[in-house]
Amino acid sequence: MASSNDIRATFLDYFARNGHSVVESSPLVPRNDPTLMFTNSGMVQFKNVFTGQERRPYSRATTAQKCVRAGGKHNDLDNVGYTARHHTFFEMLGNFSFGDYFKEQAITHAWTLLTKDFALPKDKLLVTVYHEDEEAAALWRKIAGLPDERIIRIATSDNFWRMGDTGPCGPCSEIFFDHGPHIAGGPPGSPDEDGDRFIEIWNLVFMQYEEGPPGTRTALPRPSIDTGMGLERFAAILQGKHDNYDTDTLRALILASAEATGRDPDGAERTSHRVVADHLRSSCFLMADGVLPSNEGRGYVLRRIMRRAMRHAYQMGAADPLMPRLVPSLVRQMGQAYPELVQAQALMTETLRLEETRFRSLLERGLSLLAEETGKLGEGQTLAGDVAFKLYDTYGFPLDLTQDALREQGRTVDVSGFEDAMAEQRTRARAAWAGSGDAATDRVWFDLKEKLGATEFLGYATESAEGEI
Ligand code: ATP
Ligand code: MG
Ligand code: MG
Ligand code: MG
Repeated sequence: MASSNDIRATFLDYFARNGHSVVESSPLVPRNDPTLMFTNSGMVQFKNVFTGQERRPYSRATTAQKCVRAGGKHNDLDNVGYTARHHTFFEMLGNFSFGDYFKEQAITHAWTLLTKDFALPKDKLLVTVYHEDEEAAALWRKIAGLPDERIIRIATSDNFWRMGDTGPCGPCSEIFFDHGPHIAGGPPGSPDEDGDRFIEIWNLVFMQYEEGPPGTRTALPRPSIDTGMGLERFAAILQGKHDNYDTDTLRALILASAEATGRDPDGAERTSHRVVADHLRSSCFLMADGVLPSNEGRGYVLRRIMRRAMRHAYQMGAADPLMPRLVPSLVRQMGQAYPELVQAQALMTETLRLEETRFRSLLERGLSLLAEETGKLGEGQTLAGDVAFKLYDTYGFPLDLTQDALREQGRTVDVSGFEDAMAEQRTRARAAWAGSGDAATDRVWFDLKEKLGATEFLGYATESAEGEI
């Protein structure tokens, strides 16, 4: 059976043989982009190369990129533990052409690698194209011999990629694997596409336009390619599994969690083990790249991830902090590919121990308040915003932790009530502040603080309050 480590190596090797430079993963904290919370795809480190601002000594590259999708524009946190295919931390394998080859070769490479090198059965693969991209549809027909019903045309932005409001953009084509009719879910573009039957494994982006002010799109003289394939989703297929969490790396972490808690890995606490395994990876990789838990910006997203996992650990009855005990298993699985984990092992372990120890007593009291409050609710009633706010303010429960805890009971939180309570508290804090004695100065100070929020992460213009709490 191909291990995840083998699959990563085979992918990079294939593209190296085909003239691509193997480039290291960039850190999870983007170097030159304060508007991006975490590196969330392979192209992030190449943004300036695609726009032409930066030159590299190669025009083709391949990477295995560490990605985190939590707390930013792409936020998959709420899915973790509940779908077969989402993680907060995952590895994206990719190949890139900077004005070198384009659509035909990108499709040829993807198809050859999937069906020859990895020998996937052709009849289980299907693709989507942007509805206007006849060229891509024709190439899939020609290169892969796919029948029309397995080339699905999508008209939404899912199949049209943009770097930002302006800049490079273009249609994309996603490759899906059909895990079979025994799993619920419809093909892409259908009403029940969110199921886990048809799983998107690889996205090919054809950067062929440059967008200026609205309505001014020009064709790039030398179009580029950006692709991303999820290693965990691909490993599931190659290892004969349906679920990412049954693949070698994640399964090892789940078993470590099961052993440490004495709880059946596949029993009632299955979701908790999955959350713990996933969040352990994102927490550790973030710490190894220099993020530490704090109350704002990136550090707060890390703390939210940790606390979400720690509630699951606590509810599994773990007597001592669980997360630090799983670090050796992670380092064993991934330390060779990512030596920063080995280097940061002591830091990761101690930080997890400290965070979990501190949060425990708050958790215990907060959860009993939560139980008391939900006990008062009738069927289908939501938890009041001020209760969720008290849990946040007094017991350190991030909103998503409370939402996750309620999910098991099929309940939700009154989010706008929560936001109102938060805003009210800000107003109170403002009123209570003794201030500098100069009203104008105070106003400037508060306006700035509210506008900037976190000091290290400047935030998306459109991010909701949740991003900064
Ligand atoms: P999905 O529609 O399943 O959420 P996506 O379209 O958001 O995926 P892309 O941005 O196209 O994903 O990323 C490229 C590839 O990375 C995907 O095809 C998938 O294989 C993988 N991927 C994306 N998000 C995740 C995640 N949260 N966990 C694991 N793999 C992921
Ligand atoms: Mg997504
Ligand atoms: Mg998608
Ligand atoms: Mg995609």
